Amino acid sequence: MTSIKRILVTGGAGFLGSHLCERLVQASHDVICLDNFFTSQKSNVAHLLDLPNFELIRHDITSPIWLEVDEIYNLACPAAPGHYQYNPIKTIKTSVLGAINVLGMAKRCRAKVLQASTSEVYGDPEEHPQTESYRGNVNPIGPRACYDEGKRAAETLFMDYHRMNKVAIRIVRIFNTYGPRMHPYDGRVVSNFIRQALVGNDISLFGDGSQTRSFCYRDDLVSAIIAMMGAPNDFVGPVNIGNPKEFTIRELAEMVIELTGSKSKLVFAPLPADDPTRRRPDISLAKEHLGWEPETPLREGLLKTIDWFHSINLGHYRPPTPNF
Ligand code: NAD
Ligand code: UDP
Repeated sequence: MTSIKRILVTGGAGFLGSHLCERLVQASHDVICLDNFFTSQKSNVAHLLDLPNFELIRHDITSPIWLEVDEIYNLACPAAPGHYQYNPIKTIKTSVLGAINVLGMAKRCRAKVLQASTSEVYGDPEEHPQTESYRGNVNPIGPRACYDEGKRAAETLFMDYHRMNKVAIRIVRIFNTYGPRMHPYDGRVVSNFIRQALVGNDISLFGDGSQTRSFCYRDDLVSAIIAMMGAPNDFVGPVNIGNPKEFTIRELAEMVIELTGSKSKLVFAPLPADDPTRRRPDISLAKEHLGWEPETPLREGLLKTIDWFHSINLGHYRPPTPNF
């Protein structure tokens, strides 16, 4: 039997955060969802608001907050390139000050704290597939650096609080994850292609579409991060979490067209600066230490995501709030 814990999820109203909150609430934990709604909206967690074991706080994690908790999942950070490049200074502050604030809280409360890091710490990788020991190839002064270097600095802070202050930490490096409740205008490739296919717009392929990504369905991802939080204390990570099946972006576009039955055409646009040419996780560590591997094939996950896109009213979603 698992004991009931008080758990903070920063970025808890976002795409992954809202699913994580749902799973933790279902497991009877006492969940505090903290979010400033920069890239999300209250509707993602509206169905949880009346539950006695769920609480929503509007707060920006760049400012300290005093809460008493047993565990913290630190997900607060814009994740889509368009969102994190919208205000790059705010993005790096969110990663760095956010990490300092949750680590300070964890130290004070003796809580366990998990950092949602990213495959972006590997930059445009020269090692393929990427293992956790690979140190990466990040451009520190490019347009993606606010996110990549922010997440790298957060990992540094997590390891230093762990070594110096004995804070119980966990670090997961998340590879491209998709599913229902992605923001339809976040500009990420899965949401863009599905939205474009459903409304009959052209599908925008950046570059020649030969760059690769490995797509993980959100349910698999959430299972992995919960497993990582529960891992023995001598396994703090970083650990890669993702689906090792690799696709070109062109293959993804063709699959979306096939599954939606859309008549949309592929159009080519310039590749954004520093766009990684390939990405695939080596998940040996996750298999060995967490007994985890993804179960959902891309076609199955895409069909569920397409169903969800069919069910929403695009008029209810707006671009990120320009208030920073
Ligand atoms: P998301 O944009 O849907 O969620 C991020 C949430 O954080 C949003 O609800 C946003 O409003 C909130 N937020 C942003 N800045 C904040 C701040 N200063 N204070 C409080 N809340 C703030 O994105 P997501 O895909 O759910 O990503 C969640 C986490 O997982 C992020 O940390 C992201 O870097 C990481 N991650 C995601 C992926 C992926 O493929 N989805 C890949 C790698 C890493
Ligand atoms: N991409 C694309 N068309 C789009 C959006 C993205 O071709 O409309 C490409 C993008 O250039 C990148 C890949 O798809 O090579 C994944 O992009 P995304 O923004 O989803 O995530 P990233 O992995 O780059 O952070």
